[in-house]
Amino acid sequence: MKYIGAHVSSSGGLEKAVLRAFQIKATAFSFFTRNQRQWFSPPLIQEKIDKFKKFCIKYNFKPQQILPHSSYLINLGHPTDTLLEKSRLSFIDEIVRCNQLGLMFLNFHPGSHLNKITETDCLTRISKSINIALKKTKNTIAVIENTAGQGTNVGYSFEHISEIIKNIDDKSRIGVCLDTCHLFASGYDLRTVEDCENTFFKFNNLIGFKYLKGIHLNDSKKNFNSRVDRHESLGLGKIGKFAFKWIIRNKNFYNIPIILETINPMIWEKEISWLRSQKIN
Ligand SMILES: [Zn+2]
Ligand SMILES: [Zn+2]
Repeated sequence: MKYIGAHVSSSGGLEKAVLRAFQIKATAFSFFTRNQRQWFSPPLIQEKIDKFKKFCIKYNFKPQQILPHSSYLINLGHPTDTLLEKSRLSFIDEIVRCNQLGLMFLNFHPGSHLNKITETDCLTRISKSINIALKKTKNTIAVIENTAGQGTNVGYSFEHISEIIKNIDDKSRIGVCLDTCHLFASGYDLRTVEDCENTFFKFNNLIGFKYLKGIHLNDSKKNFNSRVDRHESLGLGKIGKFAFKWIIRNKNFYNIPIILETINPMIWEKEISWLRSQKIN
């Protein structure tokens, strides 16, 4: 099965995200389970949880088709102890919310060293943060997203992600989400058949498709290896349509949420329908 959708807004209530996904004929979606610009939010009340679950059933979205995204404030590799602690608590809170909503994944950005510690130290801190969070919670799989390598972000190479995973105690609760814009911006080309084959061969060697729990399908406004994270609509950026056709036809991307975070929500329905029309060779 192909699960294709977009990162939809949850304004007005979490169940609205489900409805918005349905309205653009999506079979997958991503959303924030709380205000992504705040460290903490009031706990979810049962009524809201029930409403969300009811909508998921009504519009036919199963947990494996939903990839919630965590707050941008969280830095699990933070060099300062107080903010590292705050990030860890906030991350645990996000996992608890996913659990309450019956969701199986939580997608997050690994972290930044802020030029205060080395990349290696930052990666070690991230693994430790994930281990702490997984021990204090249950079920939900923590899904690391590759980054464009902008600023002092780590996680822009498969080696970084593999290093984080290596130090995770419970490997059954760790996964990876690959963002095509971030791949391209961090030096993994996708423009030709050979580029796609090379990039995903490297991914499989260093990390492995068994860890792949989601895809963010975005074109890139910025050049190859620019290390700048600017999304673009499919086919209108520097990657071009070919990569998206290749990915959508490839069996390695079956049964995981494939999520658009492209810049024009008005054409998401069109983008989804175009992706769906790409027949498997
Ligand atoms: Zn993200
Ligand atoms: Zn991005």
